[in-house]
Amino acid sequence: MRFFVPYQRQLSVLEKVERSLAVVKVASQSAFRYTSMKLTGDSQLRLGASVEITDRCNAGCNYCYVYPPEWDQHNRAKGYLELAASERRSQDDKILTLLKKLKQQGIVYITLVGGEPLLAKPLILAAANLFPVVWVVSNGTIPFPAMPRSVTWFVSIDGTPDYHNAIRDPKNLFGKHRYNALTGMTAQIAQNIDESDRGAYIHVTLTKPSLPHFRETVDWLVGNITKLRGIVVSGAATDFVADPNTLTLSDRLVIKGFIEQAAQVYGWDLFPANQPKTNEFLFNPEHLITDPAQCVVARRVDSYNFNGESVGKCILRDADCQTCVCNVSGMTRSIRSGDWASIRGILRTGLG
Ligand code: SF4
Ligand code: SF4
Repeated sequence: MRFFVPYQRQLSVLEKVERSLAVVKVASQSAFRYTSMKLTGDSQLRLGASVEITDRCNAGCNYCYVYPPEWDQHNRAKGYLELAASERRSQDDKILTLLKKLKQQGIVYITLVGGEPLLAKPLILAAANLFPVVWVVSNGTIPFPAMPRSVTWFVSIDGTPDYHNAIRDPKNLFGKHRYNALTGMTAQIAQNIDESDRGAYIHVTLTKPSLPHFRETVDWLVGNITKLRGIVVSGAATDFVADPNTLTLSDRLVIKGFIEQAAQVYGWDLFPANQPKTNEFLFNPEHLITDPAQCVVARRVDSYNFNGESVGKCILRDADCQTCVCNVSGMTRSIRSGDWASIRGILRTGLG
């Protein structure tokens, strides 16, 4: 047994007090919102929001859902909206106004995505000062700046180092980078996480091709990233069930088994957002979601694009719910069921 110990920065006494107060604040705000929902029967009440804060990116992933495949890196860095500097400032103001509106609506949890959100650091800072819990989902290639403790970093990793570099950096933009035994984009990511003040969670989104390499993926992450705080596992959704890339019901059970096997080796602290109860909801056929009305994410989280407009049921847009293996859809149900391990896990991930 090689237990995994989540990275946690040494805190001063004052920081420990602040951190404890923040946990109490988040828990009480969530409880208050949830109780209000129950008492008023308000079906419109929201707990969280997901916002694409920028349309720009420094990477060139070959399956990107933001940019057309024919776009070169110059266009990606410029952004989908192709704005001049002054227009970009007013675009940022628009997102800032949206964040303030969400704050007034009582939103507690916010997820910032892009493009690459670290290309819009002032908006991350603004969100960090507005909300008690801010999850930033990054490609990990830009150094993580100092931020208030409300911010938690999540980095997307697709598989083993070679697999990730091939899929997420086909243009070899990060090819020259070296860090310990790693090369390319994964070397850049591991170094940035290790040099950050608070470390990061890794979000692994499995697909049919990456599924067989799950254990190898877990081993390299634990073995190579010193400031790893944990691994969050999802599966890639598709737009329709008949798509050959759709993860089948048996694929889901295979993922669940792989997580259990890895937890036997490293312990369940490695998977704070994939505790056994969450995995039951996420992977067991009897809990398959067939309609957005059954999904807590669709009902309680609003999702916005980089124009500040709603994108519909969730950030996955056109994905068919029956194909969805989004971790949050499982985690929200296990928390609602009162599972303490899942609640503890989410509290841990909720604070940077
Ligand atoms: S990091 Fe995200 S936004 Fe950037 S190219 Fe890759 S998938 Fe697209
Ligand atoms: S696609 Fe997934 S996260 Fe989105 S509404 Fe459907 S089940 Fe929920």
